Amino acid sequence: MLIKNGKVIIFEDNDVKVKQIDIKIKENKIDKIEERIEPEENEKVIDAINKVVMPGLINTHAHIAMSIFRGTFEGCDLYTWLNEKIWPIEAKLTSKEVYNASMLSIIEMISTGTTCVNDHYFFSKEIRKALEKSKMRAMITRVLMDSDGKEASENRINEFINLYETRNKEDNLISYSVAPHGLYTCSDNLLKISENLARQYNLPIHTHFLESINEIEDIKNIHNATATEVLKKYFDGIPTILAHGVKINDEDIEVLKTMQCGISHNPISNFRLGCKIADVTKYLKNGINVALGTDGQGSGNNLDMFETMKLAALGQGGIHENEERITSKDVIKMATINGAKLLGIDNKVGSIEKGKEADLIIVDITPKLDNIKIIPNNDIISNLVYNTNGNSVQTTIVNGEILMENRKMKLIDENKIIEQFV
Ligand SMILES: [Zn+2]
Repeated sequence: MLIKNGKVIIFEDNDVKVKQIDIKIKENKIDKIEERIEPEENEKVIDAINKVVMPGLINTHAHIAMSIFRGTFEGCDLYTWLNEKIWPIEAKLTSKEVYNASMLSIIEMISTGTTCVNDHYFFSKEIRKALEKSKMRAMITRVLMDSDGKEASENRINEFINLYETRNKEDNLISYSVAPHGLYTCSDNLLKISENLARQYNLPIHTHFLESINEIEDIKNIHNATATEVLKKYFDGIPTILAHGVKINDEDIEVLKTMQCGISHNPISNFRLGCKIADVTKYLKNGINVALGTDGQGSGNNLDMFETMKLAALGQGGIHENEERITSKDVIKMATINGAKLLGIDNKVGSIEKGKEADLIIVDITPKLDNIKIIPNNDIISNLVYNTNGNSVQTTIVNGEILMENRKMKLIDENKIIEQFV
């Protein structure tokens, strides 16, 4: 496959550049990136004139089956939202409902430019089945917690082990994490079990971390230590994906710097649940990796990573007055290569480089009424972050396979899924 005439986003010399170049994909990999590549006989050619070609977006924290909660329970704080609204409904969900809700999210992600998602939920075999059908890239898990009792917790651990043991070892697209829900919903015993599973299977940890103010006190009461002390005690040396990290203070930063962890920043969910906003400018300055996530639609509203990029950039202006803060170039990296690093797959994806697996999206920037917000296009990168949404994504490619072309889904009948929700 050959993608010709596109404006390609390249990470080079510690910078984010836009270059007019062609990209050749052979099997599942990027084979050639040159100014002008002539097509071979019978080769598929995608004309990307007036289009941006960029690395596929990586959503590093989501609960994809939560599409069913879109537009519900506005105005709650995190604890009320979880305990009184979400968890009682989730306790009654069926596997079929989780499968359908996941499929709805998958078409939302593919059609808005997400090529890889890090999911955190249950009925995970159903979620895996949906992801396998879609051929998206993903990291999945079975969430663990024991704040509601020992028996439920043991079932969850067994379900996780069963999920992992039944994995398809040939599958290059789906990987796994061990996911204690949060330090405020897991006992020391369960964190120890999580640690052992992560070390035994050589998997990363994916957990909610210091999302809301109430957690700080609760973690002290349960573990008799601060959140970062608990983290260091169990997960030192294990790659750890920390979702949110809103309430991280300077002392915490010093501990986190010594660990193999990074932050999945979910600004829209944090704003919606009134958690304030993480100082990711400071984390990045301290050398802590920060990537982006949407969270589930119940708190994040949607899975459009372009909206998340915009809010991530703007949110920093709400806490940094007359100070240097992250720019649209930083945010593009957070949504792509930083996400790949956080999930430990940056050797395979996250940037457009020869030899990497081809996870790419093609975004329409044709000067026309539908794109009025980006005219004049003085700065393509700035316009991608501030003035583009996922509906401008024309084509989505994962592992060299086209999942959507010119806004037509190739492997999934999207109408069949949509009609179940209307
Ligand atoms: Zn979450």
